[in-house]
Amino acid sequence: MARFAMALHGGAGAKRNRDYSRETPHMRGLVEAARDMLARGTSALDVAVATVRDLEDSGLYVAGRGASPNELGQYELDASIMTGPDRHAGAVAALQGFRNPVEVARLVLESTPHVMLAGDGAARFAAANNCDRIDDPKAWFTAAGQGEDNHPPGRLAHGTVGCVVLDADGNMAAATSTAGVFGKMPGRVGDTPIIASGTWCDGQVAVSGTGQGEYFMLTAACAQVGWRVAAGQDLQEAVADVLSEIGGLGGDGGLIAVDREGRLATLYNSEGMKRAVLTPGGEIRSEVFDD
Ligand code: ASP
Repeated sequence: MARFAMALHGGAGAKRNRDYSRETPHMRGLVEAARDMLARGTSALDVAVATVRDLEDSGLYVAGRGASPNELGQYELDASIMTGPDRHAGAVAALQGFRNPVEVARLVLESTPHVMLAGDGAARFAAANNCDRIDDPKAWFTAAGQGEDNHPPGRLAHGTVGCVVLDADGNMAAATSTAGVFGKMPGRVGDTPIIASGTWCDGQVAVSGTGQGEYFMLTAACAQVGWRVAAGQDLQEAVADVLSEIGGLGGDGGLIAVDREGRLATLYNSEGMKRAVLTPGGEIRSEVFDD
């Protein structure tokens, strides 16, 4: 019987003093929709893009409509997508003016010889491909993460969305989308659009990260999970070891991962992580904290 599995996250900036009664059922609904697509034979790439697009459009997470602005009040968004085992990837960084960065990242994957487009070049490319524009940023953005900024000193508040998928044909995809960290400097790019740091998929694993992106860049966090699994390490242990390396450097965040058997790992070293999973057995869980 064909096996498929997936997981999504809505960011590891979750705080215990906040109410997540909208996010938890929303994430469950997206996993149910993904399950139905996977059961119909939809590809991991299509499921990952559809899921992240819905996360972006919801306005509930710090990505897409829920994005937070940089120091100048501009909305610079990052996203990436990678598939395996073919290792195709696309990414956009510091993209302004477009509704679904993950769609633009997919177009970079499918229709350019490049892996990443940034800034004005990314926006020109999105415009040339008729991607949906944001006409009025003031009316569009919801600033979903504003309540998540009571963070410990030295740790930047943040939020992101992501998705990892194993489809019924054994193909995999990982996608991640973010507004980055709160009050970031103009032009700051984090891990999310960097293949290997914020997103990775090599056919052994699909991995998406969320957290203070600088630390995910310094550890090649998502690819490192793949390299560890390729070397024979158990998926849960690989994810836990990478998070402990991030923690050792002073960073916090979380990782979601699926391997080619449909094993799942959703771990974090922050207070909580909005996340939901579909196991190969069909079980769905949607949660923010461990207890
Ligand atoms: N990793 C993202 C960044 O640093 C933020 C997050 O995941 O919350 O841009």
